[in-house]
Parts: sequence; C-alpha cells; structure tokens
Amino acid sequence: PPLYIQRYEFVIDFVKKNKPKKVVDLGCNDCTLLRKLKFHKEIELLAGLDIDSAVIRDRMYDLAPIPTDYLQPGDHPLTIELYQGSVTERDPRTKGFDLVTSIELIEHLQLEDVDRFTEVVFGYMAPVAAIISTPNADFNPLLPGLTGFRHYDHKFEWTKAEFQTWALKVCREFGYMVAFTGVGQIPAQEESIGFCSQVGVFQLDRSGGDAPRLQSNVTEEHLPYRLLYNVVYPS
Ligand code: SAM
Repeated sequence: PPLYIQRYEFVIDFVKKNKPKKVVDLGCNDCTLLRKLKFHKEIELLAGLDIDSAVIRDRMYDLAPIPTDYLQPGDHPLTIELYQGSVTERDPRTKGFDLVTSIELIEHLQLEDVDRFTEVVFGYMAPVAAIISTPNADFNPLLPGLTGFRHYDHKFEWTKAEFQTWALKVCREFGYMVAFTGVGQIPAQEESIGFCSQVGVFQLDRSGGDAPRLQSNVTEEHLPYRLLYNVVYPS
C-alpha cells in the first residue's frame, strides 16, 4: 500500500494493541485517520486538530453516525470533536489523552514552532503515548528524481540522527521513553538508512515520578482552538 496508508496502519496497529480511550490527531487534515479510528470500539473520545479549517470541513460530516451505528451501538458513547487551531497553542481540551498522533506534521513547522509544539504536546497535553512521524532525510537519495525536500511546504527534513537527537531531548525534559521505528521499505543491504518515514513512539515514563511537568494550577479559561464539529454516537 502507499506510504500514507502504511502510516495510518501503523497507528491503527498501535490502537489495537494499546486500546487508548482518548485519542487526538494533530494535523488531522481531512480526517482520514479519524474515520478509520472511529471503528475501534475502545475509543471514547476522538479529537482532531488542524490549522486549516477548510480541509477539516471538506469531509467532516463523513464522521457523522450512520444508521448501523444506531442499530449496533457500542458499549459506551463515542464523542468526536474537531478543532481548528495550531499545535503551537495550548488548549485544555487536549489535555489528559491516552494517545496523541502527529503524522507528517512537524516538518511543516518553522523550527521555533517545533519547540513550541514539543512543549505543548509533551509538557502540556502530556499524553500517555504519542506517535510522531516525519520524513527521514537519509532516505531521500533513494527517491528517484527528488531534488530538495519531498514537499514544497516542508521547512526541514531531519536525518535519523537529527530526529533521534530531538526525541531523546524530549524524553529527558518531559519524562518519556521513545522507541524508534518507521514505515516504508528499507532497501536490502541499506538497513542503516532506515525507513522512508521515521516514527517515534513515545510512552510516558511512569517510573520517573519526579520528571518535570509543566502543568500550571492557574484556572484555564483560554480556549484558543475553535470547535468546528462535535458529535456523540449512541451507546
Ligand atoms: N496527518 C495527515 C496525514 O498524515 O495524512 C496530514 C498531513 S499534512 C502533510 C500536514 C497537516 O498539518 C496539514 O493538514 C496542515 O494543515 C496541518 N498543519 C500545519 N501546520 C499546523 C499547525 N501549526 N497546527 C495544526 N495543524 C497544522
């Protein structure tokens, strides 16, 4: 299957194994991943965030329940919430999730915004797990005809070493553990190049009880994200 499908399948496999109840997809675009995730009955809250309201609106009503959802209800209601907003801003409605996914998003951010994203996701949202994917620049020489970045809107593409440096710093600063993996075939004999898309799977390190958490006690009333769509499936 094409690479983007393999990335969604990676997330779906993780969901099947880990059964998160609350999942938020950052940079959800036209909600393709969310449409696949809504069939996983353990999920109780499915949220999506994108800076571009037009791409969300494009197909958002496809997330509405269909008649069989009423005929074969799940064990618990499923709530879906779609927001327009930026991953560089903190909004309390994205705190306390079991899983945050960020698939091919960070390379669209300026590097100073990657720092904000890092603090927002790992310091503020502080999910139990996070799946972050981004292109692997080491793989680019194997892509025929590619000069420069893979997409005109990419602000950077990290080598394996650069991605790992960022990820290990996240772990030190915010108390996570990371496993490095990826999707997209590794050419025979060239395993050191790594995958076409590199993926970091982060898990909150519960042993590091005194890891610094940047949560404030201030009453939070600032809701920078705009709710575009909200639906509750029957149970
Ligand atoms: N995650 C989807 C996928 O894997 O198919 C879409 C990836 S697309 C390359 C990147 C998405 O990130 C776009 O939908 C874009 O609008 C969104 N995006 C870019 N900057 C963002 C930001 N600061 N906050 C939230 N979303 C952003």
